[in-house]
Amino acid sequence: MAKYSSKINKIRTFALSLVFIGFVIMYIGLFFKSHPIIMSIVMILGVLAILASTGVYFWIGMLSTRAIQVVCPNCQKPTKILGRVDMCMHCNEPLTLDKNLEGKDFDQSYNRKSSQQQ
Ligand SMILES: [Zn+2]
Repeated sequence: MAKYSSKINKIRTFALSLVFIGFVIMYIGLFFKSHPIIMSIVMILGVLAILASTGVYFWIGMLSTRAIQVVCPNCQKPTKILGRVDMCMHCNEPLTLDKNLEGKDFDQSYNRKSSQQQ
C-alpha cells in the first residue's frame, strides 16, 4: 500500500524535497568561500531549486482547483481525485471516477499516459 500515494501528496513531497535540496546546495556553497565564482554559481543553483519548489507549490494549487472532491468510501474523509484513478490522501484507498475501472485491481499504469504529457 505504501508504494502508492495520492498524486497531490506526491507532488507536495517533491516540492518539499526541492526546498531541502536547495538549502543543501547553498550549504555546500559555503565550502567554496575561497572561490567566489564557484560559490555564487552554487548559491544561484540553490536559489533556483527553492524557486522551482515555489513553482511546484503553485502548480499544486492549480491542480487542486481542477481535482474533483469526493468523500472517501473507506475513511469517510473528503479527498481529491486527479485523473482517472488516484489514491485517497488520508488512507491511500484507490479511487476511480471511471465506471469501467471500478472493482478492478488498482494499476498505476492507468495514469501513465496523462502523467507523461505533463
Ligand atoms: Zn480514505
